[in-house]
Amino acid sequence: MSVPRFWREIPHKYRLLGSKCRSCGAVYHPRRPTCPRCGSRDMEEIVLSGRGRLLAYTVIRRPPSDLEEFRPYIVGLIELEEGVKVLGQIVDCGPEDLRPGLEVEATLRRIRAHGSSGVIEYGYKFRPALRWDKESSSQRPS
Ligand SMILES: [Zn+2]
Repeated sequence: MSVPRFWREIPHKYRLLGSKCRSCGAVYHPRRPTCPRCGSRDMEEIVLSGRGRLLAYTVIRRPPSDLEEFRPYIVGLIELEEGVKVLGQIVDCGPEDLRPGLEVEATLRRIRAHGSSGVIEYGYKFRPALRWDKESSSQRPS
């Protein structure tokens, strides 16, 4: 695998992208060619902030085999600032650090490695927002 090519691909491949309807303003993730709300096809691609609030979460103790290395892991439902809801793995903390309404932010992390080929997939996961650390040191995730 060509490392330089891999890094060149990162900027567009790994931005958290959504679609915004130019007619009614609705925002979607993943991207959509038409707006389910108003039916418009006038959609623009937007880069989502990756910041949002945790709505709900659960701990996965028996994952599929290719995610075994992360066991147990947390999956959360996050409402991004733009109003879209996304599912994602929550990292850098334990379930005891989480509560509904917690501020989280997207972070680029390894998703899985493909056996002997060594190809490693990256993608977005979420972690408690850094400013949460600064403002409330008594609650910092371990
Ligand atoms: Zn629309």
